[in-house]
Amino acid sequence: MKINIAIDGPSAAGKSTIAKKLGEKLGYVHLDTGAMYRCTALKCVRNNVALDDEEAVCRMLADTEIVLTPEGGVFMDGEDVSTAIRQDEISMAASKVSALKNVRSDLVARQQEMAKAGGFIMDGRDIGTVVLKDAEVKIFMTASPEARAERRYRQNIEKGIPTSDIATIAEEIRQRDYDDTHRANSPLRKADDAIEIDTSDLTIDEVVSRIYSLAEPFISREEN
Ligand code: C5P
Repeated sequence: MKINIAIDGPSAAGKSTIAKKLGEKLGYVHLDTGAMYRCTALKCVRNNVALDDEEAVCRMLADTEIVLTPEGGVFMDGEDVSTAIRQDEISMAASKVSALKNVRSDLVARQQEMAKAGGFIMDGRDIGTVVLKDAEVKIFMTASPEARAERRYRQNIEKGIPTSDIATIAEEIRQRDYDDTHRANSPLRKADDAIEIDTSDLTIDEVVSRIYSLAEPFISREEN
């Protein structure tokens, strides 16, 4: 059986980019849990469901299909929302709905079901602490606020996502980090057994190979 790898950390620390590359190297599936909170937020915004109305959001979510493809596509109720969920407005809205206890329990249950078979690299805020408490490898990925704002800005431009300027992105990231760290339900924190990697001055390949070497002993053990 394959192992699972948990990657947590603040916004725009490089989690998804790294997880995707590592997945390709290991033949594992990358699961971006943030995309599920983003889908929830997008549907709320589209349907005028208040982001703090827990009952209404949960009712809507219970009737929502979210599919994450191994290639990184995000489908909500059959529609490709991969780009729509990346807008800055939806990032902020995702952080708001993710504070709701019952939204989290719905999405966490879906994530745990998906990861049952092993072979997943899951990234988010509560993977090492809640979703995959038993993951063999847990990483807490950080980067300086400046590096994160600049990366997110470049990423938006590259992917053709409508973007605010760097200063606005930096402020949104700061706000989101604060909210994600201070919420009552599953706040962002490093699991006691997670290894912290500051990616500010590392290339993507350097981070990937660092995590690869941490995972390798477990993977060879599983194969024997
Ligand atoms: O990772 P990403 O920036 O796409 O996540 C969007 C928002 O979803 C985060 O700011 C956070 O509030 C929420 N989130 C969460 N738990 C996760 C993944 C994301 O609360 N496992």
